Formats: sequence, C-alpha cells, structure tokens
Amino acid sequence: MEILLAQESGFCFGVRRAVKIAYEAKEKWGEVYTYGDLIHNKQFVEKLKRDGIKVAEKIDDLPPGAVVIIRSHGISPQEERELREKFKVIDATCPYVKKSQKIAAKEVRSGKELVIFGDRNHPEIKGILGYTHGAGVVISRPEDTATLPSSPRRAVISQTTNDLEDYKKFVGGLMENTERLTVHQTICSSTIQKHRSAKEIASRVELMLVIGGKHSSNTRKLFKACRAIQPNTHHIETPRDLDLIDWRKYEKIGITAGASTPDFVIKAVMEKIKEEGHD
Ligand code: SF4
Repeated sequence: MEILLAQESGFCFGVRRAVKIAYEAKEKWGEVYTYGDLIHNKQFVEKLKRDGIKVAEKIDDLPPGAVVIIRSHGISPQEERELREKFKVIDATCPYVKKSQKIAAKEVRSGKELVIFGDRNHPEIKGILGYTHGAGVVISRPEDTATLPSSPRRAVISQTTNDLEDYKKFVGGLMENTERLTVHQTICSSTIQKHRSAKEIASRVELMLVIGGKHSSNTRKLFKACRAIQPNTHHIETPRDLDLIDWRKYEKIGITAGASTPDFVIKAVMEKIKEEGHD
C-alpha cells in the first residue's frame, strides 16, 4: 500500500503565524485570550486551552484589562475599535485577509458595488463586510451571480480559501450582468498551492482522504475540490473516522489536510494506515 501526502497539507502561513503570535503573547503576558477559537480545529483548540491560551467568544467574556488576540480571520473595524477601547489587543489577522479588508474599504469608498464570493457566516467575511458599511453583497455559489440585477460598475473579491476554478466561474457569471467589472484576486497563494497539489494527488490515487475539522470551511472546500477529481474522497477529522471507510482494500491512498489541521492529527492518520494497512 502506498500513501501519497500532498505538499502544503495542514497549517497554512497565516495559521502558523497566528499560533506563534498566541504563544509569544502567552509567554510575555501570562494570561491571554483569543477572540473566538484561534483556528477551526477541536483537537488544536483543546491543546491551546491546556497550554493556558483561553478563548473568549464575545467581548463580555473578557475580564477587565485582558490581553486579547485577533485571530487570522480578522474582525470588523467596529469590533476592533470596541476591543481596543477596553483591552490590550494583539492583531494576528493574516496579511492576506488584511489585503481583502483594504480592497473592500477602497472599492466601496470609490462608489462601486462590492460583490464578495464567500460564505456570509464565516468570520473572515463578517469582518470584511464591516469594512463595506453595509455596501457589500455576499454570494456563495457561482451559479447565483445570475440573481443579481445589471450594474454599470462592480468590484469583486473572493474569500481567501475558495477554489480558484470556482472563482473563475463566479467572475465569468458576473461579467454577464456588469458593464465594468474590477476583479481582485484575493485567494491566498497558500490556498492555491494547497488545492493544486491536492488535486494532483487526487488524480493519481484510488482513495483520497481530506483531514480537518468538520466545521472548517477551508477543509470542506478542499474536500469538494478533491471530490470533483476523485469521487472516492472522504472528509475525516481524526484517525478514528477511518473506521467508517473501507480503506484497506486500496493500493494507493492520497492524503491532504485543511489549513487548520495540525501536524499531529495528519501524522496520527498516516500512522494508523501504516500500522493497520496491508504490505
Ligand atoms: S488560508 Fe490563506 S488567508 Fe487564510 S490564514 Fe491561511 S494563509 Fe491566511
């Protein structure tokens, strides 16, 4: 049995950076809070808690004078202002997300309608919407661009973790009902490389495994992209989930993992396959 691990599996640049910032802050300040889970991965959030990095789901959960870390997804400027008024804030927003926030603010200021290709319930998009002062329109599927009325001037950005091919379709749809469209490529290079290498592996194996939190939006997108290439693709969260799949009958198994999946989970899945698989 052969296991092929895609390059760029697991933590991306922005998540590694946010984790490093959180541990450095803990070292310096003793007690620190992340504003929401630092990453969408249950196993890693439990590890952070064991290491003394606490989570505050909302501003009211923070004790007076607390040190609070903004996670890689970023937040709205209104929320950030409120946090800064009351607490010591450490900003771990990913630079790629910052770029999207700046573009959103600039395009809305210049009078364009801003269309965002993304999930309106995702924290990154909620934060970006805050920069548009209500002028951003969020659409989650390329086929839904047809529901928009015609417009003389629009700008478009994408959630950083979307699949590039989906974004191309989305932009193509918008061109149908927009006279002058300004397209910004805001999918991060880490996502592009991750999807590219995962699809390449998916095309060469009999079974593809995508490891990551069930609630992780970027893992779900990676899963969807792999499944389009290899229908025998499964989204698993831990090695235990392997028991739900008849994986032992395959000779070639491909593995990739979402941007919020820690190395120790990827390693545990690979070890289980090596230990329990046939030679
Ligand atoms: S997926 Fe991309 S944008 Fe999001 S945190 Fe990682 S590097 Fe940053």
